[in-house]
Amino acid sequence: MAKYIFITGGVVSSLGKGLTAAALGNLLISRGLSIRMLKVDPYLNVDPGTMSPFQHGEVYVTDDGAETDLDLGHYERFTGVPTSKLSNFTAGRIYWDVLRKERHGDYLGATIQMIPHITDEIKSRIRRVAEDGVDVVMVEIGGTVGDIEGLTFLEAIRQIGLEEGPGQTMNIHLTYVPFIRAAGEVKTKPSQQSVARLREIGIVPQALICRTEVRHLAEDVRHKLSLFCNVSPNAVIEEPDVETSIYEVPIMLHEQGLDDLIVETLRLDCPPADLAPWRDLLAIIREPEHRVKIGVVGKYSELQDAYKSIFEAIEHGGFAHHSRVEIVKIAAEEIESGAAREALRELGGILVPGGFGDRGVEGKIEAIRIAREEGIPFLGICLGLQCAVIEFARHAAGLEGAHSTEMDADAPHPVVCLMEEQETVIDLGGTMRLGAWPCVLTPGSRAAEAYGGAAEISERHRHRWEVNNSYRERLEAQGLRFSGQSPDGHLVEMIELPDHPWFVACQFHPEFKSQPLAPHPLFRGLVGAALARTLEMLPA
Ligand code: GLN
Repeated sequence: MAKYIFITGGVVSSLGKGLTAAALGNLLISRGLSIRMLKVDPYLNVDPGTMSPFQHGEVYVTDDGAETDLDLGHYERFTGVPTSKLSNFTAGRIYWDVLRKERHGDYLGATIQMIPHITDEIKSRIRRVAEDGVDVVMVEIGGTVGDIEGLTFLEAIRQIGLEEGPGQTMNIHLTYVPFIRAAGEVKTKPSQQSVARLREIGIVPQALICRTEVRHLAEDVRHKLSLFCNVSPNAVIEEPDVETSIYEVPIMLHEQGLDDLIVETLRLDCPPADLAPWRDLLAIIREPEHRVKIGVVGKYSELQDAYKSIFEAIEHGGFAHHSRVEIVKIAAEEIESGAAREALRELGGILVPGGFGDRGVEGKIEAIRIAREEGIPFLGICLGLQCAVIEFARHAAGLEGAHSTEMDADAPHPVVCLMEEQETVIDLGGTMRLGAWPCVLTPGSRAAEAYGGAAEISERHRHRWEVNNSYRERLEAQGLRFSGQSPDGHLVEMIELPDHPWFVACQFHPEFKSQPLAPHPLFRGLVGAALARTLEMLPA
């Protein structure tokens, strides 16, 4: 029977709860345990699919096409365990399901209440993840203890603790231990209060992970936290801000014995942690042999979280070449041909990520034109591929006014359009092409080479528009190669320019599948080409 770890957060948000949970998952994996990770979000949106990346960061897409919270990206990157539709749900989804059942008469006239109806629904969704053979289900509760929305979730995990019995569940509380500069003191009171709130509803944390800006918590502070928060002294774990990389966190927690504590608390039978691959990775991160600059031209560039997986995947690409990548964020709206050309020439490579709507599109197209003309390594993702097709159509194939019907419904040359606007109509069932789709690669292409000679791959999608098949021949005649297609040949999945150092774009989102220990082929390819260019540019 699977055991459960519940991770709650206290004091403030943005402490990196998802990352800490993922790092813990990593430790359990390196102890040979089989785990599943789950994120529950107490907000009322039914799913994060429609939430603005400005507010909520990236929408992470799973193989089975769920549009989920970006923390699932951390889970996959740290643990290598694929997430699915089951790995994320919101309060909105729970209420929706309960109310639908009520309308359907499923409750046989009972009065519907927070407890037990809402809590039962939460518990059943949590337990759904515990398939046969899973040792531990890790559940991250979104938000902060004290939020009204979160109450039913805390009540549900309290009940699971009671129902499963001793040694079957563990509560870990992530808290913030601030340093008050004026007083020169570290303060434990917010943590005390946050734990007190948890205990009020019957949840007693067995470990306290303390996010702090100081390097080490003094002994008296640790003692105080232990005493007032009712956790044993060895269960007070500190998590200072990392210096070089988030991938340091698992080892940081391991060195304080957190995995041992979990194994003891949950009475798990497993070998010690094998962290050798992570230590090797950290050595590369700390002492890179090369440095390279990759420009990311995007609409939400100013925001770290909107392109979370892209930035991570670029870093992974660097790991594959023992390189540190400096990511240069470039706002698409600010690209003006003259000045931009000089600035972009300084870069090792350029990436144009996905996006929706027309803001910044002309800047992205201009950046791609510069990459194509100057021979700067380029990777286009989703909207980035569509912009590359538009750019090529306009400037290399002479199709003036070429555009996507997303931005210009009356474009004289709709080189990117909706499926239903095409001659070969494919019914996608919904409006977006979501989740894993197969892609057949052209043998001998740069795409096939990047994927190690693979004939067919599977990648995740999240888009509505497609390359217009009626323009394929004209573009091909001018030297654009369609190097990846759906198995039936109807959908363009990848394009490239054979006579360019490295110009590749894909309709799918490769960033979702990149992992630090398994960098994604296309990011490895981009950084490799960017590194070659960088080394060439160095004065002899
Ligand atoms: N807006 C484009 C489409 O819907 C691209 C989407 C994306 O980049 N994720 O097809």
